[in-house]
Amino acid sequence: MYDQTNIFAKILRGEIPCKKVHENDHALAFHDISPQMPVHVLVIPKGPYTNLEEFNAGASLEEMGGFMRAVAETANLVGAAQSGYRLIANNGSDGHQEVPHFHVHILGGRPIMGGMIKAQD
Ligand code: AMP
Repeated sequence: MYDQTNIFAKILRGEIPCKKVHENDHALAFHDISPQMPVHVLVIPKGPYTNLEEFNAGASLEEMGGFMRAVAETANLVGAAQSGYRLIANNGSDGHQEVPHFHVHILGGRPIMGGMIKAQD
């Protein structure tokens, strides 16, 4: 069940501020409050989806497409598209998801030295 009080829901409702990078009809992108890399941006769907399972079950193809477009456009806007970046979606408890609103991290701005499952070196 989606928790309407989670921090990203509050950002979407304009109750708390964010450093917005990009927005379209279906997604919002903003800087992570605790950046782990020179580029660390979060992209969230505007709909009330806790995780990828809820997003898959409840989002229209238009919402899904709009979300993926926002991810790619955001990576481009922050200057990471050319040199590359890592996308991470921490999903559910085993994935150590902290905020219960589906989101993707865009991490970049320098080479990532870690292996497959590391968020940063
Ligand atoms: P996770 O759910 O584990 O993928 O991580 C949630 C991310 O949200 C963390 O990287 C936090 O630093 C970030 N975060 C938490 N609160 C805010 C906020 N108010 N604005 C921007 N980023 C946030």
